[in-house]
Amino acid sequence: MVEKRKTSDNIKHYINELMDGNSFFTGNLIYKKAVISTAMLHALAAVLSLLAGSLLMTIVNAVVFLFLVTFVISLVNKERYMTVYFIMILGIINFTIFCNLVIGWESGYSVQFFSAISGSFYFTFVIKSEKRKSLSLTFCVTLLLSYILSYILSQMLAPIAPLSPAWTRVFFIMNAVISFSIIIMLSYMFVWELLNKQKILTMQNEQLDELAHKDPLTHLLNRRSMNEKMTLRMEQLKLTGKRFTLVLGDIDDFKKVNDNYGHEAGDIVLITVSDIIRQNVGGGGLVCRWGGEEILMVLNESLESATEVTDRIRKRIDENIVNHEGNQIHVSMTFGVAESIPGYKIEHLIQQADDRLYYGKKHGKNQVVTSIPEG
Ligand code: GH3
Ligand code: MG
Ligand code: MG
Repeated sequence: MVEKRKTSDNIKHYINELMDGNSFFTGNLIYKKAVISTAMLHALAAVLSLLAGSLLMTIVNAVVFLFLVTFVISLVNKERYMTVYFIMILGIINFTIFCNLVIGWESGYSVQFFSAISGSFYFTFVIKSEKRKSLSLTFCVTLLLSYILSYILSQMLAPIAPLSPAWTRVFFIMNAVISFSIIIMLSYMFVWELLNKQKILTMQNEQLDELAHKDPLTHLLNRRSMNEKMTLRMEQLKLTGKRFTLVLGDIDDFKKVNDNYGHEAGDIVLITVSDIIRQNVGGGGLVCRWGGEEILMVLNESLESATEVTDRIRKRIDENIVNHEGNQIHVSMTFGVAESIPGYKIEHLIQQADDRLYYGKKHGKNQVVTSIPEG
């Protein structure tokens, strides 16, 4: 019982994953299932034909069943999908014309031409065949011509071995149900495929965006992207007078961290420090890995309030301990702060922040420097 619930949960989960586009069928699985399902339908038709007293239809359906489960399945296993595709579509056309001639148009076999239209598109789509558009269209035209030919023949010739009216109705309903089911199922699967492809594209776009704008280690903005954003901020400053503050930070004695605990530990410290800064920088603030262990921030604040924010960050870093392989690693950080001035070049502002940072390094580190005393 528990096992059963588990299996049904798995199936439900699988279907949900498919519906959300998180998962998709492989070409091999689709071809295998299609061939086996078609074989099963022929087995059903063979049984019904036997019950209906049509030996010819029983034999033909049984032969088709055997042909599918042996030869065609072996082609699928050899991944010869194009051959299988041709066999299946041409098989449907020939079999349908044959059935119309033997048991008559009223048996409803002609509707199978319509389900073959969906199939002719879907089965080239899933194996990414290069010729898929021309192939599917060629088959669709062939299907239309075969449908008309089949109709004309049925009007000109009497069925070779017609079924009783009651069995003809049974076959008509069976064909309608099968054909509609195939069309509905393939349409759904098309939607699933597209959802899946959409999801993959969105993911790839996010990855590309991340690669283009973010530093892979710290996930902070990279230098190039920060430069673009700072240029924009400078333009805004000119147009609207909206000021901002630049803060350049550098981890103190970081070389010792690498020397004492190894480069990997250094990386983890760098990631931790970056996270602390990102979490405390405030709304609209930009944080970038400017160089090795140098971090540049753009805060939408006046010099005073940016200094407060930066000092809070400095304290959080100073209080933080990184545990790595039994070692407790502590670092501090020094910051230089410079407020934007309309008309100033961004390089000039960065230089000003860098000078202040340098002053802080020379005067005890672990501090926020907003100005350098004269003299
Ligand atoms: P100071 O207080 O003067 O800044 O001292 P410091 O040792 O931090 O100064 P310095 O700039 O000379 O050294 C920075 C070191 O940071 C050198 C480099 O090996 C290391 N570093 C730069 N980028 C990375 C990184 O991505 N990972 C690790 N683990 N180390 C890095
Ligand atoms: Mg340093
Ligand atoms: Mg440095």
